[in-house]
Amino acid sequence: MILPITLKDSFGRTIRDLRISVTDRCNFRCFYCMPTEAMEWKPKAEILNYEEILRLSELFVSLGVNKLRVTGGEPMLRRDLESLIERLASIEGLADLAMTTNAHFLKTRARALKAAGLQRITVSLDSLEPERFALLTGRNELSTVLAGIDAAIEADLHPVKINCVSMRGINDDQFLKFAAFARERGAHVRFIEFMPLDNGKVWKREMVVTGEEVRAQIHAVYPLERVPSDNPSETARRWRFVDGAAGEIGFINPVSQPFCGACSRIRLTADGQLRTCLFSHVEHDIKQLLRRDAPIEELLDFILMTVEKKEERHHINDLEFVQPLRTMSCIGG
Ligand code: SAM
Ligand code: SF4
Repeated sequence: MILPITLKDSFGRTIRDLRISVTDRCNFRCFYCMPTEAMEWKPKAEILNYEEILRLSELFVSLGVNKLRVTGGEPMLRRDLESLIERLASIEGLADLAMTTNAHFLKTRARALKAAGLQRITVSLDSLEPERFALLTGRNELSTVLAGIDAAIEADLHPVKINCVSMRGINDDQFLKFAAFARERGAHVRFIEFMPLDNGKVWKREMVVTGEEVRAQIHAVYPLERVPSDNPSETARRWRFVDGAAGEIGFINPVSQPFCGACSRIRLTADGQLRTCLFSHVEHDIKQLLRRDAPIEELLDFILMTVEKKEERHHINDLEFVQPLRTMSCIGG
């Protein structure tokens, strides 16, 4: 049932997009996300179960959210994820159901995910060279990930998007290779500016390769033109190849061109905290309401009040910027 209430924050932005982290665990160790030393995972009892995730998702959709993205940690580590996808996909009023994954388990499960109702998939991939890939992720698994991407394309999880974090001195020699990859596979490669959300606190402004730098590099070899968009809250600026080749190139530029003014997102962490911004310093504990069986009115009020508190913008570019305590793998990217 869609309620006659819209989720609007105090700056007039409507919330349409819920990102659900289903686990804080991961089998990769991307250096910009997780530390290589042993992580302390949240105890299982603190992680929302599928019933709880579903209940909250239904509430959000009844409040006008129409996009859900399942993420993590690595969401495919969660047992029987397909059953959660199936239940999320059947929520009335939902327009879009997507997932972000490292693709390690995708080769054998892409079809089942599609059959369960997953519409689209985003795979994170920062290098197309096996050794560099192993250095970046701590796992020598490039071929497994590529096979996962091919399986997703075959299963028609369209469009298959590739997220590549652009980092100076790390993968800035690979952008053209990624453009060629987009053309060959018909994939949408999106370059994301490196954000200060890393566990090792290695982020430095000089390491951020701006979307504009990447675009200019690609445009010089494969001319690009803007894809017109009527969705102001879309995070990526989209470009296509002038020569009509398949695939697209997108740029997510949170550092050089913040898009907070059009943000329509809210996040639910694996341990049941609502976060109104990636860079929030406060979290809103909705799990305690769920677990004491709070009435629906109380849950709705809690969500409305949380959304009211959504921050106007992030402060990455301000001198007083303070990195949030939790990293991307815990928040859910
Ligand atoms: N494990 C899954 C994966 O890697 O796709 C889903 C979770 S991961 C945290 C989601 C996205 O966050 C990935 O595309 C990753 O590249 C991105 N990410 C993580 N840390 C980041 C950082 N410091 N700056 C920019 N993007 C980051
Ligand atoms: Fe794991 Fe994804 Fe973070 Fe890499 S980016 S460590 S795959 S959660």
